[in-house]
Amino acid sequence: MKVCKFGGSSVADAGQILKVLDIVRRDPARRVVVVSAPGKRRKGDDKVTDLLIDCASRALAGGETSLPVDRVVARYEEIRADLGLDASLVGDLRAELLRRLARPTKDPGAFMDAVKAMGEEFSARFCAAAFAARGLEAVYLDPKDAGMVLSDEFGAAQLLPDSYAKLRASLAAHADAVVIFPGFFGYTADGRIATFSRGGSDITGAILAAAAGAAVYENFTDVDAVYPIDPRLVPEAAGGAGIAEMTYAEMRELSYAGFGVFHDEAVMPAIQAAIPINIRNTNRPDEPGTMVLPSRKTVPGRVNGIASSKGFGALFVEKWLMNREIGFLARLLAILAREGVSVEMIPAGVDSVTVVFRDSFFEHEDVKERVFAAIREELAPDKLEYVPGLAFLSVVGEGMKMTVGTCLRVVSTLSKAGVNLQIINQGASEISIMFGIREADLQPATTALYHEFFG
Ligand code: ASP
Repeated sequence: MKVCKFGGSSVADAGQILKVLDIVRRDPARRVVVVSAPGKRRKGDDKVTDLLIDCASRALAGGETSLPVDRVVARYEEIRADLGLDASLVGDLRAELLRRLARPTKDPGAFMDAVKAMGEEFSARFCAAAFAARGLEAVYLDPKDAGMVLSDEFGAAQLLPDSYAKLRASLAAHADAVVIFPGFFGYTADGRIATFSRGGSDITGAILAAAAGAAVYENFTDVDAVYPIDPRLVPEAAGGAGIAEMTYAEMRELSYAGFGVFHDEAVMPAIQAAIPINIRNTNRPDEPGTMVLPSRKTVPGRVNGIASSKGFGALFVEKWLMNREIGFLARLLAILAREGVSVEMIPAGVDSVTVVFRDSFFEHEDVKERVFAAIREELAPDKLEYVPGLAFLSVVGEGMKMTVGTCLRVVSTLSKAGVNLQIINQGASEISIMFGIREADLQPATTALYHEFFG
């Protein structure tokens, strides 16, 4: 069986919801359907979750909520009318929203989550009603009845591991119908609604796929596939082929370095259960999308994707005979750890080491000053320098293992494009090579690499 998750754009209006129905009908293996709250129908449109957050924030501040409440209700009313559903559904939604907004606000996190979760709850209720009215055996499954028990970290809740057995049993008990399950929220052990972090319907889908031992977790969104280079940076990439297959490790490397298609942490439950993930397009369901697999056959030398991310800085420390000074690196890292700096990379030479981290850690001049003072005092370097404004390109491919020449191709392409390389870093896993360049060079660098490897 397959678990499918449909994001906000896939359930943004009645037309989209009917596409979901069509997709579910096409494949009888699609037994569990997880839905988000209605998202944007067009640029500049509202996401229902944002409207609900607005409702809850106003209520928490003791303000007037009728404006966002009316907008939420109008959004669902339009969907209801276009799907020809019973008017009572929107009446229930309005009454429930007002009821939750009238609750005591002494625990603001719990209050916010109860309101925020309504987008998914009613999205799923509407889909179940619309599908059933069109002859599909579909049932709404409440996360409480299903056993989706979460920690009480409101707004960033985590699944309690004991939930898996109960979830598996509940899904099995509903095997005669297609289960429509709201994403994004569950219940604490004491019965309060708690949500995952934003975008958390992906987490719900991955949890259910793991619980059910699904053959595949299909994640439907609004792109045909994951592209080898972000089309927002290199627009011609959108016209080229998507990535047909990648491994979990490749996905992790690519999303670490800025791939925006989905959050790698969100799909952890599916990865831990070794379930293949298929990223697909609701608007073009014939496209096979991108498969993310535990392992795959690779072509030697093949680069699978190139991700990039801005906003890094490099701390450069040089000291004559550094290599003989045992513990130098440990002491340097301890200084950074004291200031809460999370380190990304540590390329080193004989007498020098560069520590790469997010620029934002040095946003406050005093943090940088404290780090510099501590390094000077505790390590007495010959040279100490900080270079901000770096971008990293991450060239990723399992096929790069044990093959020669990929790095050369990247370096010569960048040199032809006039891009100066500041840092190169390759881990022993050999599935990615990172190149540090100036942020201003990112555009020409990615365009040149796109044409070299995928154009
Ligand atoms: N509706 C929630 C959000 O906007 C969760 C989701 O769509 O995945 O964050």
